[in-house]
Amino acid sequence: MKSVNYHIDISDVTAHLVTVTLSFTPLSDIHELTLPAWIPGSYMIRDFARNIVSIKATDANGSLLLNQQDKQRWHVHCGKQKVHLTYQVYAYDLSVRAAYIDDEVAVLNPACLCLQVNGLHDLPQQIMLKKPADKRCKDWRVATGLTRIKQTEALAFGHYQADDYQQLIDSPILAGRFELREFAINDVPHYLIVTGDNLTDLDRFSGDLARICQTQVKVFSALPDDLDSYWFLLWVTEDGYGGLEHLNSTLLLCSRNDLPVKGVDAINDSYQQLLALCSHEYFHTWWVKRLKPAVFHQYQLDSEQYTNQLWLYEGFTSYFDDLALVRAGLIDKACYIKTLEKTISRVTRNPSNTAQSLTDSSFNAWTKFYKQDENAPNAVVSYYAKGALLALCLEAELTQAGSSLSALAQQLWQQCRTTGTDDDAVNMLLTKLGYADLASSLTSWLYDAAELPLTSLLPKLGLKLEFRPMQHAEDLGGETDNKTAIFIGALTKNANGLMQISHVYHGSSAHHAGLMVGDQLLAADGKKITSSNWPHLLQRFTQGQDIRLHFYRKDRLLEADLCLKPTKQQVAQLTVCDDAKISAWLAPV
Ligand code: ZN
Repeated sequence: MKSVNYHIDISDVTAHLVTVTLSFTPLSDIHELTLPAWIPGSYMIRDFARNIVSIKATDANGSLLLNQQDKQRWHVHCGKQKVHLTYQVYAYDLSVRAAYIDDEVAVLNPACLCLQVNGLHDLPQQIMLKKPADKRCKDWRVATGLTRIKQTEALAFGHYQADDYQQLIDSPILAGRFELREFAINDVPHYLIVTGDNLTDLDRFSGDLARICQTQVKVFSALPDDLDSYWFLLWVTEDGYGGLEHLNSTLLLCSRNDLPVKGVDAINDSYQQLLALCSHEYFHTWWVKRLKPAVFHQYQLDSEQYTNQLWLYEGFTSYFDDLALVRAGLIDKACYIKTLEKTISRVTRNPSNTAQSLTDSSFNAWTKFYKQDENAPNAVVSYYAKGALLALCLEAELTQAGSSLSALAQQLWQQCRTTGTDDDAVNMLLTKLGYADLASSLTSWLYDAAELPLTSLLPKLGLKLEFRPMQHAEDLGGETDNKTAIFIGALTKNANGLMQISHVYHGSSAHHAGLMVGDQLLAADGKKITSSNWPHLLQRFTQGQDIRLHFYRKDRLLEADLCLKPTKQQVAQLTVCDDAKISAWLAPV
């Protein structure tokens, strides 16, 4: 059977170089070759081709003419013989979206290594992954969701295959030193790969992960029928965080400190966050990898591909990721409520909550959500966090009506898996199920830049929601005993010992005082301001008081009066008002 073949050689570990030889039998005189500009799941143009260092084309008769057409497209002039493209790629991007090589690990996303041969993209795509010659890699193994072929042993360098180009770029490869755990969910093997040597309790981690997977499967009743294995590829570094979903795997990045400590049973914040990340990416196995916006059924990888629906795919996933932790019994009710409080506060404290709609945030993810600047708290709402709160609103209404969000998700999965979803898919389904009023509410929650009716809806799930003014920059809600704390409505950072303003919230005291991003605060009422003494200094003033600020704006010394009135920025306080309701909602499904 015909195929496109990639020989991948990690040729220089120190220089972070991969040498790829792409071979195919030509079908015409000229073949076009392209590299994606972005990778599905991460909605930003990354121009992967910029890391191609050199490229040439040959066949058995010698060099072939290769003309570059644009930043990521080449034309090769072919003869009758097999064509070989040989190119080097620089791989040193410490993220889950591209490629990275050092002496411990190689993280290889085919999306940034494997040129697509247009016209042959539906053929099987084979990879021969060569074991690096570098002696530092002698005990490396390989983990990937790709299919092993040609007697390649499990976890070994050798031959792998994808059904087509689309599947190839949806299959990251992790090579290096790693530990492995295996568990089965509904008889399907699941693998947990963890790079490095981490002084952690992997059995406990793997057990926790299995409980999360089991809980997520229950939302949809069964695993996708085409899933015959699943890989959690966890790349552990000194400091890092992120994840990207794939068809039968996820590539995750975390800090070593996020992993559980041997002998410590409690789940701390960072381990909880890691479990929620795994939970999130696993939920995507159904929700965006298979059920997806109809427009994503044919990915357009050379430029932005717009959709209004990221609130559905990232928002619902964000709602179910934390929920699975409590339903699996890994965190308790109180911990889940605290987590929810933080999600609500992250949305409600930012003026962007009433400045940008969820559909607008989804559509413009490419240039806004993924390219946030100092004005983001005022202008960019998160389709993850607010999308999760919208899911929570739907959950409250559906629960009241005797149904649930899981039931709705399962119906959408069954009805739209093959066709994909249009912008009004959820509204149509709600109407069909007899929830026309809810469908109409959903339209305004999605298209209006307005607050969600959480306060009126949450009692339907047994929770009472109240808001209070934000009291300091890290304030994410909950009870406080520090009633006198003051937040001026500006976030700051340390710049050579001086306090520099990094963000100014619209409508805050800082805004009204005329403070701008970049201003360096020097003194408050004649007292020197430093990064370390600022919170203490603020506590010595009283709310409502005017203080005189001296500050630098670039090279000018300026002064202004700042009124320390309570901020408009709101954070959430949740209390249980109906134990039976909340227990039913958070109970194992
Ligand atoms: Zn996601």
